[in-house]
Parts: sequence; structure tokens; C-alpha cells
Amino acid sequence: MRLANILLVDDEVPFVETMTKRLNRRGFEILSAYTGLDALDMLSRHSKIDVVILDVKMSGMDGIQTLEEIKHRFPITEVIMLTGHATVESAIEGMKLGAFDYLMKPCDMEQLISKVESAVQRRRTHEDKIIQARMKEIKSWQA
Ligand SMILES: [Mg+2]
Repeated sequence: MRLANILLVDDEVPFVETMTKRLNRRGFEILSAYTGLDALDMLSRHSKIDVVILDVKMSGMDGIQTLEEIKHRFPITEVIMLTGHATVESAIEGMKLGAFDYLMKPCDMEQLISKVESAVQRRRTHEDKIIQARMKEIKSWQA
């Protein structure tokens, strides 16, 4: 399996730095963004991003708005929401809007990694199905 590419989006810089180091150590390629707009910009420039880990509570464009835009523009990108106790409702709303899952802060690393791995798997399965559908289409032209 090729290395998974993860985009970590959170407005707390020290949190992003710590998590990036931890996830790097576990073999993930991490890109980071500190705002929703930066995240969208990253996604438009890096088509290889498999999964986005997205903070719910951010100033400016919040996590829910960012999620909606991601699902609209990059529909097969899987999103895991990060939430605090105060924003659990938002995380649940996020699930309705197509988030893969959510996780409470402070993050349990094992839980996060297990969710990320499942999300990567789902993204890969989805990509494979799209490739298969395209191949069928090409074969039907040749027939
Ligand atoms: Mg935040």
C-alpha cells in the first residue's frame, strides 16, 4: 500500500506541530493548514491527499463550513472531525454532512490512527471503484 497522505487542519499551531511529529513517526505523510481556506487551497494543489483531519472550532471559516466545501469540491476525500466537549453537536452535524468519523480532543493517538487507517481504506476502495467504472466505459467504446 502506498503511503497515506493526510492533511491536518487546526488553528492551534503547537497542536498541529505535535500531532504532525507523532503521525510522521507512525508512517503518515502530513501536510498542515491553520485555516479552512488554507485547507481548501492545499486540497486543490495536492490531489494525493487521502484524508483530512479537521478541527471543528476555528475562527473565520469553521470546521463545518470547511467540511461542506471539501465534500462539495473534493467529494471522495474522507474527513475526520476533531471536537471538544463543547462542540460535540457540531461533530454530529458533520457526520450528517458526510464526515467519515469524529474524535474528541485531547486525541487518543491509537484511536486517531485506527480511524485514519479506516478512512484511508475507504478512500482507496472508492478510488478503485471509480477506476473500474472508467475501464468499463472504455471497453464499451471499443466494443
Ligand atoms: Mg480550534
